[in-house]
Amino acid sequence: MTHNKVLIVYTGGTIGMVQDENGSLHPFALDRIYDAVPQLRACDYGIDSVTLDNIIDSSNMTPSLWVDIASIIEREYDHYDGFVVLHGTDTMAYTASALSFMFAHLNKPVVLTGSQLPLGMLRSDGRENIICALEIASTRLALVPEVCIFFMSHLYRGNRSTKISAENFDAFQTFNYPSLARVGIEFSFKEHLFLPTDRQPLQVNKQFERRVAVLKLFPGIGPEVVNALLETPGLQGVVMETYGSGNAPTDAWFIEALEHAIERGVTVMSVTQCKAGAVKMRQYAASCDLDRIGVVGGGDMTIEAAVTKMMYVLGTHHGEPEVVRHLLETPLRGEMSMG
Ligand code: ASP
Repeated sequence: MTHNKVLIVYTGGTIGMVQDENGSLHPFALDRIYDAVPQLRACDYGIDSVTLDNIIDSSNMTPSLWVDIASIIEREYDHYDGFVVLHGTDTMAYTASALSFMFAHLNKPVVLTGSQLPLGMLRSDGRENIICALEIASTRLALVPEVCIFFMSHLYRGNRSTKISAENFDAFQTFNYPSLARVGIEFSFKEHLFLPTDRQPLQVNKQFERRVAVLKLFPGIGPEVVNALLETPGLQGVVMETYGSGNAPTDAWFIEALEHAIERGVTVMSVTQCKAGAVKMRQYAASCDLDRIGVVGGGDMTIEAAVTKMMYVLGTHHGEPEVVRHLLETPLRGEMSMG
């Protein structure tokens, strides 16, 4: 009898900490996962694990580690039904977004999870999060063919997610998309919200452009700061966090600074500082200039999705401004709503 198999990719984060006899926290060896979560002995699918060469606090996450994670999944893709990535919560939404763009034709679940309290602590949320992530990745209940985040009681689309709390167990949210499943006594999957599957082989894109920046607007932002950022040597892309539905100051110095950067070949995309809702270019006079000079509207993307999408699109289509613009405006992996 064949039974389902899940591969855990362990990258670090709070979840992987256990207390030693003196009470200090250390990363645990994944081969001891059954000691840390004894309930896993009862599950009827196989679990294997791989650990990154260096386990990290996710504040040290980098594009090259995204490539390492994706390469493990690519290498093992045909051997497992699904994948669980154990990851620190701080940059989990960035990694989930980056992986979603890297994987084209993903037809298996890649579920990221972590915890607010280490597994080795009595009240850890990690046990429940790992168990539910594994259940989802085993595909015995439903096939979720996307990169997602499981946290507390919800399964979220990865590239719609944002970390919203540094203290609550309920640490993630997708403000612009409903959760893909709610987990209580039962798992209730909302299959109509999943990305569609296809029959094409997995394709993994591993090029990221790192020369991107985030420009967050605030009342009083001045030319020294804006010019210094836009004139960064080698800069290729800027994600600008605008106000409300995509509004920005209309001062001539500001618009001209952006226009010059765009003329030099820098791609500038606008996303909103609001947690929910979308950029709508030209809805207010305060976004008409941005539209005129060629700022790309990022719709309802999160900042995490916008930054990683910018890195991915510029990495794979360097020197093709029209293609870059088109791809940024188009939903590639369900990261933005149409229209
Ligand atoms: N600093 C930790 C990390 O992101 C926090 C966590 O795992 O919750 O790696």
